[in-house]
Amino acid sequence: MPRTDDWYALWRELPQEHRNPIRTYTVREVRAELREIDVDVVVHPVDGPASAWAESAVIGDELIVLGPNAHHDGVHGGVDFLPPPHAERILLAGDETALPAIAAILERLPAEASGHAIVEVPHSDDAVCMTSHPGFTVEVLARDHRARGELLVPAVQAAAPNLLRSEGTATTQRAELSDVDVDVEMLWEVPSDDHGGPAQQDAPLYAWLAGEAGVIKTLRRHLVSELGIDRKSVAFMGYWRLGRAEG
Ligand SMILES: Cc1cc2nc3c(=O)[nH]c(=O)nc-3n(C[C@H](O)[C@H](O)[C@H](O)COP(=O)(O)OP(=O)(O)OC[C@H]3O[C@@H](n4cnc5c(N)ncnc54)[C@H](O)[C@@H]3O)c2cc1C
Repeated sequence: MPRTDDWYALWRELPQEHRNPIRTYTVREVRAELREIDVDVVVHPVDGPASAWAESAVIGDELIVLGPNAHHDGVHGGVDFLPPPHAERILLAGDETALPAIAAILERLPAEASGHAIVEVPHSDDAVCMTSHPGFTVEVLARDHRARGELLVPAVQAAAPNLLRSEGTATTQRAELSDVDVDVEMLWEVPSDDHGGPAQQDAPLYAWLAGEAGVIKTLRRHLVSELGIDRKSVAFMGYWRLGRAEG
């Protein structure tokens, strides 16, 4: 792995057979004084270097961690949760790959924040990785061999109108969205201002959606095109795509 400042360009130039696989994960916790981070890795049955590494890793195995630098002047990226400071409600939804991010968000939100978090996971045992928040309804739905999204989509469809209705919000501005082919393009939009801050100062509802791209596309369409939630209040991220390796 190239270690110089221009490592990315050098890495891209490496022949395929020498190019170290890079995969993207959420840092769930940092203990800087111990030089430790926590990462929750989904072990899935399809061949992938990250999942395979996690399954066979033993203490002492090495990997290289690349991350954004908060000391960088300007927008350093790395945090794609940008709720308006005066959002009345927050909706967090995703699958097992987004559970670490959703849990970390809940752990960092102030006590007065309120909303609903819905996570679909493979088995009920996975709920142990989730967390709670005094202002949030937290649902962990065990897929148990059902199709992906089969529980998450109806749960979000049930929760979102209630979050809006509780503020008496009109939902009349249904927006037409351009179609994203999730097998070709990256499904990713995190509304922000020019300085990497929130796109809005207030909103009745801020929704943050992440997980398998096909499922997230369905959720986004429902919130923006069917419920009429302002697209500047909806962040959506295809964290992975069924049948496609990252990169
Ligand atoms: C910002 C961001 C944060 C993320 N955070 C996390 C995290 O904290 N924990 C986490 O586990 N994942 C997380 N992911 C998702 C993770 O990067 C992908 O699941 C990644 O594809 C796994 O790499 P791999 O080498 O195992 O599989 P790849 O080589 O990328 O893919 C090989 C095959 O496995 C399939 N596949 C990939 N992921 C899954 C899965 N979860 N279930 C079933 N099949 C799968 C692919 O569709 C493909 O067919 C995050 C992604 C992003 C973009």
